[in-house]
Amino acid sequence: MTESIDTLVVGGHVVTVNATRDIIRRGAVAIRGNEIVAVGKQADLEAEFVANETVGGERFVVTPGLVNTHIHITGEPLTRGYVPDDTPFEENVFMWLCPLYSVHTAQEERLSAQLAAVEMLKSGTTTFLEAGTIRFLDEVIDGLVEVGIRGRVGRWIWDLPPEPDVYKQRTDEAIAHLQRQLSEFGSVADGRLGASTILVGHTTASDPLWKAARELATEQGTGMSFHMSPAKLDPEGFVAEFGQRPMVHLAEIGVLADDVAITHCVQIDDQELEIMADAGVSVAHCPTTALKVSYGVTQVGRMPEMMQRGINVGIGTDGNNASNYSDLMRATYLVAGLFKDARQDPQMFPAEMAYEMATIGGAAAMRLQDTIGSLEAGKRADIVVHDTDRPEWRPLLNVVNQLVWSADGRGVHTVFVDGAKVVDDGRMVTIDEADLYARCQRAGEAITARSGLPDKAKWPTY
Ligand SMILES: [Zn+2]
Repeated sequence: MTESIDTLVVGGHVVTVNATRDIIRRGAVAIRGNEIVAVGKQADLEAEFVANETVGGERFVVTPGLVNTHIHITGEPLTRGYVPDDTPFEENVFMWLCPLYSVHTAQEERLSAQLAAVEMLKSGTTTFLEAGTIRFLDEVIDGLVEVGIRGRVGRWIWDLPPEPDVYKQRTDEAIAHLQRQLSEFGSVADGRLGASTILVGHTTASDPLWKAARELATEQGTGMSFHMSPAKLDPEGFVAEFGQRPMVHLAEIGVLADDVAITHCVQIDDQELEIMADAGVSVAHCPTTALKVSYGVTQVGRMPEMMQRGINVGIGTDGNNASNYSDLMRATYLVAGLFKDARQDPQMFPAEMAYEMATIGGAAAMRLQDTIGSLEAGKRADIVVHDTDRPEWRPLLNVVNQLVWSADGRGVHTVFVDGAKVVDDGRMVTIDEADLYARCQRAGEAITARSGLPDKAKWPTY
């Protein structure tokens, strides 16, 4: 007796990231609707199921979709690369990024989110946690529904910065924005997309806003995320204001809990590390930003100690002016390598650990580990098929080593999100790519012109 299914995804290697981290040779994943119904040997699944469509084959490596735990899907994708790579942190944020963010229109933010989603999907990321849509969440969600990615989004929320004018918020306005997005966009597209409690963080929120956001996150069960301590500015600001470092203060006012994912956490002292571990927070480690914005993560970062202390660390790619790509496989490569060199210790972040961080660890940071992050029956069908008939994949002798150290998003062939095929043979199924890229080019030129910021490219271009 054979059961019918929608799709059988077949691979020479199926990397499950299940509890025992099984890798199945000549394996397969059976999909019905939006769910994985079985994972096992290809021969066994072919005997058990009749599939409407079979995808993949011996030359493919099948993995769970990656989870990007921190990415700016608006403000940055359409201004990618315009900010020079030799500006100090404060100049970077206040002289360049804020003015560029503030001149986007609603349609440009929608387009920006689509470009970010397409870049993620085509390089094997199926789920993301947003850093905060600048202003136009309705249009951004609409654009994301069309592309077909999974994610948690939210509007840019802060109440202390006096400018830029267009997204300045009083405390009551910031709380109202949060309330509205959580009630209107709690679950969109069958739960694939939804609003979360996302603050900008750093030193941009008053205590009343921190506390109100905490209450809303608990009440709505959304989890909570924000930026903190990429550089010394945040600890210095908290110490000046409260006489306490950020994690000490946030723990004291009740913000930290096991549903909190904090981005960066480079400047963390011993006491803060203990507080974070005790509270059970997750960290979004963004190695590419640290490199480009000179955070010193390899000199002062405590990511190895966080892992040893049991803190869950996921991986993010952050904004496209601080990390000009959103290919999580490239970021995972850096996670595996940076601390090996920094500590002169090859035991740091083995490939298997880095790959866990990019999959099940990211899912846990978003509290979605029961839904995504591995290939197991009962989970949502978020699946990536890598083509190994490429130079960087051959010879294929150790699949996890190859995934982290050799391959990148260029080898991604087919991608499923929620059981739907969104990338097929390296091309988007859901959206016209040529049209998208043409519109992105026009928008990027228009936004940078409107900002009045100078073109700082150093080599003569004519
Ligand atoms: Zn960020």
